[in-house]
Amino acid sequence: MSEKLQCLIIGAGPAGYTAGIYASRAGLKPVIYEGMQPGGQLTITSEVENFPGYPEGESGTVIVEDIRKQALHCGAEIRSGEVTKVDFSKRPFRLVIDYEREVFAETVIIATGATARWLELESESHYRGFGVSTCATCDGNFFKGKIVAVIGGGDTALEEAHYLSKIAAKVYLVHRRHQFRASKAMQDRIHKTPNIEPVLDAVPVEILGERQGFSRQVTGLRVQNTKTDAFTDLALDGIFVAIGVTPVTELFVGQLELDAHGYIKTHGARPLTNIPGVFAAGDVQDPHYRQACTAAASGCKAAIEAERFLANE
Ligand code: NDP
Repeated sequence: MSEKLQCLIIGAGPAGYTAGIYASRAGLKPVIYEGMQPGGQLTITSEVENFPGYPEGESGTVIVEDIRKQALHCGAEIRSGEVTKVDFSKRPFRLVIDYEREVFAETVIIATGATARWLELESESHYRGFGVSTCATCDGNFFKGKIVAVIGGGDTALEEAHYLSKIAAKVYLVHRRHQFRASKAMQDRIHKTPNIEPVLDAVPVEILGERQGFSRQVTGLRVQNTKTDAFTDLALDGIFVAIGVTPVTELFVGQLELDAHGYIKTHGARPLTNIPGVFAAGDVQDPHYRQACTAAASGCKAAIEAERFLANE
């Protein structure tokens, strides 16, 4: 017999877990499906200094685990399992878990977040996982005393560069423009760190390395200067790509209105999608702020909307 839920939450980052806290307290008996990467982007974030309630700063992993514990404490049920299909054409909505199990839900809160983008260079594909990474906290330790590059000019890139400067001997911070996009606080921190060398106006064009059978070793990064068109080869051992994120919305193509970049369209400040009863929270619908704090807040709003939606019926 298939199961029928009042509120099903897809995704397990600050948005999903916070929605779980609020939906539980509203008596909706929410079930959270954690999917492939429980914890989301926060689990690959080293130091978080701007999430309220952690005056000394804390690692992203600890923060998201704390929110998860709070969701459990409030009564949310958390299941490991991936939602592999959705049908929002009528209520109760039909969802398929791990390609086989069917669940029906009166309301759905989507909090599937976003994933790191890659450069999409052909050479990059040869070295992904072999010296090219999108996660300094996961892979930084492989580069103790070595030379690495971080690519990007946003807060993520500068944060990763700062984290890696404590492990690697030297960090090139490669950015395609002359001005970083990151906050002033992050820029000040980078400028005060002697083993970080900014390489500006530089577009990565090729990842250099040696390949023999299954063995692969990154040896450098070729960049092209946007002002002079000159190529420079930086000799290094590892590359961390930090050039932004792509929303995780493949599952919803043809089911919900998405914008040109794949973000779920929500209505004004409210987390309403074009389907009544389906709500979207966190990075999956937010190309602007993308903070753990704003994700948590929109998870809260989505759960309140779900509660009111059911109460008004
Ligand atoms: P951003 O979109 O802010 O920055 C992406 C960076 O990558 C930009 O500098 C961009 O260059 C560059 N870039 C994009 N595509 C390419 C490409 N193909 N080749 C080379 N460079 C490229 O993403 P972030 O992940 O840094 O940040 C996302 C959001 O999360 C932001 O709102 C940020 O403030 C926030 N954040 C906050 C943190 C904090 O407060 N502690 C920590 C981390 C993130 P260009 O500038 O030229 O567009």
